Amino acid sequence: MLRKTLRKTLPAYIWCVIVLLTIAKSSSAQNHEENERPGKGAGDSALTPELVKTGLYVISGGGGNSLLRLSGNGLILVDGKLPGNYEAILAQAAKLSFSDQPIRVLITTDHQENHTGNNAQFLAAGTQIIAHENEKLNQTNYHPSGEDAAPPTITYDHDYTLRLGGVEAHLMHFGNARTSGDTVVYFPNLRVVAVGDLFAPTPNPDFSAGGSLVDWGPVLAEILKLDFDVVVPGTGPMVDRAELETFKTKIDTLVSRATGLVKKGVPKNRLMAQLKTDDLGWRFSFTGGQLDRFYAELSRTK
Ligand SMILES: [Zn+2]
Repeated sequence: MLRKTLRKTLPAYIWCVIVLLTIAKSSSAQNHEENERPGKGAGDSALTPELVKTGLYVISGGGGNSLLRLSGNGLILVDGKLPGNYEAILAQAAKLSFSDQPIRVLITTDHQENHTGNNAQFLAAGTQIIAHENEKLNQTNYHPSGEDAAPPTITYDHDYTLRLGGVEAHLMHFGNARTSGDTVVYFPNLRVVAVGDLFAPTPNPDFSAGGSLVDWGPVLAEILKLDFDVVVPGTGPMVDRAELETFKTKIDTLVSRATGLVKKGVPKNRLMAQLKTDDLGWRFSFTGGQLDRFYAELSRTK
C-alpha cells in the first residue's frame, strides 16, 4: 500500500541506501565552544520534548521544532535550532533515547538559522548533514547575525531515502514555497510528515531565497498525496491532515484572488491594498523586493 502510494507519487524514486561508517564520539567528548547568546545558550532549559509516535519525538524551543527519530544504530535529527542550543539538544537526545547514542544524521528543512544554527558542531562530532541542493546554494547568500552555518555534507535534488538502524525517512523536495530548497521529511511506517515552514500561522515565502506563494499550493498538494495522519510544522504544535488541507485551500484562494487582480490590470502599488485576506485570517504587507517578486510571479501565471 505504502509502496504503491510512493510509486504513484514519486515515479522516478531512486532508492538509495547510505552507509554511515562514522564512528561518532560521545557527547562528553565535544568541545564547549559555545556561541554565547542570551537566552539561547546550553544552559537554556527551554527545550521541551513531546512524543509524536513510538520512536519519534518533537523537541520545541530554541527557535523552532526539531524531530528526534530513534533507530537501532544511532539517532536522526530533523532541524538543529538556533546557535547555542547544541548541548541542550544532545541532553534531550540522551534523555529521550536512554542512551549516549550519537546523532548520526541531521536533516535541515531550509537554510535559515533556526534550522542550521548548530551545523558546525554537529559536523565536528561526525554527524552527516543532509539538505536539498538549493538549500546549500541559499546558504551562500545568507549571513545571519551570528556565524554563517556550515554547509550540508550530502545534498539531493528531488528525493532521498535514508535508512538507518531499521528505520526509514524519505526526504522530498516538491518545488519552491518557503524557499527554493525546502525539504519535507516523511516517516512512512509512522505515517508522520515533517513539513518545516511549509505550514505556519501565515505562509511566509522568503522571496529572496526563491520562495513562492504561487507554487506553495502545488507543493502542499504533493505532500497531501502521502499517507500520513500527523503533520509536524517547523514551529508550533502538531496538526492533522485536515488542517494541512485547510491551509492549502486558503493559499489557493489567496493566489487565485491575487492572480485575478493582476489579470484585471491592478498595478503593483495597489495590489496589497486590494487583496482581500482578512477572511483568511492573514495579513500581508509585502513591499520593495518582496512585492516585486510576488507581482512578477502572479504575472507569470496569467
Ligand atoms: Zn525556515
